[in-house]
Amino acid sequence: MKGSETSQMNIKTFKGGVHPPHAKFTKDKPIEKARLPEKVIIPLQQHIGAPCEPVVSVGDNIKVGQKIGEPKGFVSAPVHSSVSGKVVAIETHPHPIGSDVLSVVIESDGKDEVFEGVKPYGDLDSLTADDIKNLIRESGIVGMGGATFPTQVKLSPPPDKKIDTVIINGAECEPYLTADHRLMLEKPENIIFGLKAIMKALGVENGYIGIEDNKPDAIEKLSKLAEQENNIKVVVLRTKYPQGGEKQLIYAITGREVPSGGLPMEVGAVVQNVGTTNAIATAIKTGMPLIERVLTVTGSGVKQPKNMLVRIGTPFKEVIEQCGGFNGTPGKVIMGGPMMGLAQSSVEVPVIKGTSGILVLTKQDAKMFEPRPCIKCARCVDACPAYLLPTRLAHFSEKAMWDEAEEYNALDCIECGSCSFVCPAKIPLVQRIRLAKSQIIAKRKKK
Ligand code: SF4
Ligand code: SF4
Repeated sequence: MKGSETSQMNIKTFKGGVHPPHAKFTKDKPIEKARLPEKVIIPLQQHIGAPCEPVVSVGDNIKVGQKIGEPKGFVSAPVHSSVSGKVVAIETHPHPIGSDVLSVVIESDGKDEVFEGVKPYGDLDSLTADDIKNLIRESGIVGMGGATFPTQVKLSPPPDKKIDTVIINGAECEPYLTADHRLMLEKPENIIFGLKAIMKALGVENGYIGIEDNKPDAIEKLSKLAEQENNIKVVVLRTKYPQGGEKQLIYAITGREVPSGGLPMEVGAVVQNVGTTNAIATAIKTGMPLIERVLTVTGSGVKQPKNMLVRIGTPFKEVIEQCGGFNGTPGKVIMGGPMMGLAQSSVEVPVIKGTSGILVLTKQDAKMFEPRPCIKCARCVDACPAYLLPTRLAHFSEKAMWDEAEEYNALDCIECGSCSFVCPAKIPLVQRIRLAKSQIIAKRKKK
């Protein structure tokens, strides 16, 4: 198996889905390094799972890459300092996911001194599968597409789940976002290297990189590199939303269907995001944990849309300022893209490991999101790639009918936002279903 599938005949996809405007205004903008922030606010929870406990104190002098939060529990990930300087506070702070979170506030000394413990891990050939999983855990790497699930947990399936396929998600199907696209163009060697590391960690022979056909330059670049490998293949995917959803991606590439309520490992697959794969390569090659990430700053409400490499903990406000500031009065600021992103009530929140983008919409554009009553058109039902009844689930959520929402399989919702996108009444269906999911999970935990 070599090279790529580039003919029209071979373009892969899934059933259903929607076609929002791509709005990839920043696709040709090379990644720009953001200024070193004067102060960073680093939340001790930037991942799904248990929060970290601080391992530094107010007044400590620390360096870049030094651990500042130790995970408590298997499903967790450590956090590290993204600057050198002094810890000035350990306090709760607004977090882009919603509630306030305990955070370490560090004032940069401007020296950007690297912690002594940061050293390359050596050749991939010299590392065992366990070495790779351990270094991924130590480096605090989580799913950087937005899900923020700790990566080493994903790479440690139970013994009865045989994994035979690794897929790198290069679809970047979310409108506006181009950070993964730029990474594939500017760091293609890292994507191949990171994929090989993941395959070794899982003892897997088959690696795929799935890329939507609206990124021909990335397809070409990675296909050339994949030709030099025996077991890595670039698969061209139809540009359709949510092509990058794990279940949709696995179906498009392997033809396997993840069962209702199931995980990719149940069909022998593990999916990793492009940013995560790059972070793994960086950690192995340099020893530097996850302290910065590439994100897209875009939308009608920002003067100079860009792709930027930003230190974790930098306030959104500072990042937006480096993109020329707001274009008029902003109507809406979203972390991520318009389909799955989270609306923000403040731009003082920090960039976290899962910040794939900052989307700013003008007041005029934000009006498109104002809801009206349901007209019972069922377009949301037709668009749902998980075969759910979004309108009914949203209704149950509004009425706090959590048992009914569970019965109607709310937990199968992948939060893709396709229902909200097609809804002519602009009802925030995905937000309501997300709430129902969290209530069902909380109820199960209580039991
Ligand atoms: S119900 Fe969930 S999975 Fe279905 S379209 Fe809406 S957000 Fe996507
Ligand atoms: S798409 Fe919107 S208006 Fe149409 S049925 Fe679904 S919720 Fe109602």
